[in-house]
Amino acid sequence: MPMEGKIAALVAAALMCVPAAATAQQTTIRAGALIDGRGGIQRDVVIGIEGNRIARIESANARASYDFSRFTVLPGLIDAHVHIGAHFGRDGHASTPGETPAEQTLYGMENAYLMLMAGFTTVQSVGAESDVPLRDAIARGKLPGPRLLTAVSPVRDPSMTVQQIREHVRKAVADTADVVKIFASKSIREGGGQTLTDEQVLAGCSEAKNLGKRVWVHAHAASAVRAATIAGCTTVTHGSQISDSEAQLMAEHGTFFEPQTGLLLQNYLENKSRFLGDGNFDEAGFKFMEEGIALNDAMFKMALRHKTLKINMGTDAVAGAHGQNAREIVYRVQKGGQPAMDAIMSATSVNADAVGLKDRIGALAPGMEADLIAVDGDPLADINALLRVVFVMKGGKIYRNIAPGQ
Ligand SMILES: [Zn+2]
Repeated sequence: MPMEGKIAALVAAALMCVPAAATAQQTTIRAGALIDGRGGIQRDVVIGIEGNRIARIESANARASYDFSRFTVLPGLIDAHVHIGAHFGRDGHASTPGETPAEQTLYGMENAYLMLMAGFTTVQSVGAESDVPLRDAIARGKLPGPRLLTAVSPVRDPSMTVQQIREHVRKAVADTADVVKIFASKSIREGGGQTLTDEQVLAGCSEAKNLGKRVWVHAHAASAVRAATIAGCTTVTHGSQISDSEAQLMAEHGTFFEPQTGLLLQNYLENKSRFLGDGNFDEAGFKFMEEGIALNDAMFKMALRHKTLKINMGTDAVAGAHGQNAREIVYRVQKGGQPAMDAIMSATSVNADAVGLKDRIGALAPGMEADLIAVDGDPLADINALLRVVFVMKGGKIYRNIAPGQ
């Protein structure tokens, strides 16, 4: 073919591609019930998806590409606190000495896959340096996994000066952290007492905020929760030892509160032999955790009485827990007495707000990204339906469809 002909053919081929690229792929999903993530419910509607966005939600009269009239459709779930790389290694134990970086990467991918299949389309890992390449790989759109946010490298060393803490935060942000994580108290296995001084907590929180980043503060002791709240952190995670006054303080400051009631400690106890012997996972540590379940139940019920407190959903998923994240939501409803709609919002619109993405995810509405799931059953009547995820779409792309009758 002469050169001119070749060019003409290439131009024609390029032009033929234009309409396909300009007109985003369209998908329609009929939902028997649609829980919008913001407290609303609609019956028998069709969701129109164009490309990676929800274009419209209308009453169902047309044929849809996917008929989920038997199912409930919800926004993709969000877990604001996981440790995506944590896993049981070759010998089944939680400590994994001698593992290669490649092995660790593959375990992280497994966890990402498990969580996506369980309906979690966004998770925040708080955090490890190995989260960064995993986050970026998933974002390239080929590997199945939730949209991943990471804290990269938490602040935890009480011997750091205020200046060193600020430098640590700046380094984490320069290393592309989406959020800053600060440990202001000991682990619950060591009693949960405050570790960083109020001044150190303030230094970490204010440096992060100056850089436009959100801050997650690990705090069990009431004093550490107070310090984090007053320092202006985004979210207090754990809070196992708080009383009414800390719940009130967080509500007044608009601080998100992320308690763990239904998966974290249970997973440790269910897998005790796999954790035992690693650091503070000794018999004394397990005793703290066994007793912690009832204490957390009481604390959560107390927190619920504070109607203006923004309670978000983070499981703190470690080895063994990935893919079971919805157990936290189920437990909050069944044992904590939280209304199912509120518990669902904690894992959708409230979490989207907590992770700084409320304009993009966490709700089903025109213009939002097409992150949605279908579950078998009505989670408002039986919250266990959240454990029966039959369909997962993230950014308009279908990753799972085991809905019967398709
Ligand atoms: Zn954690």
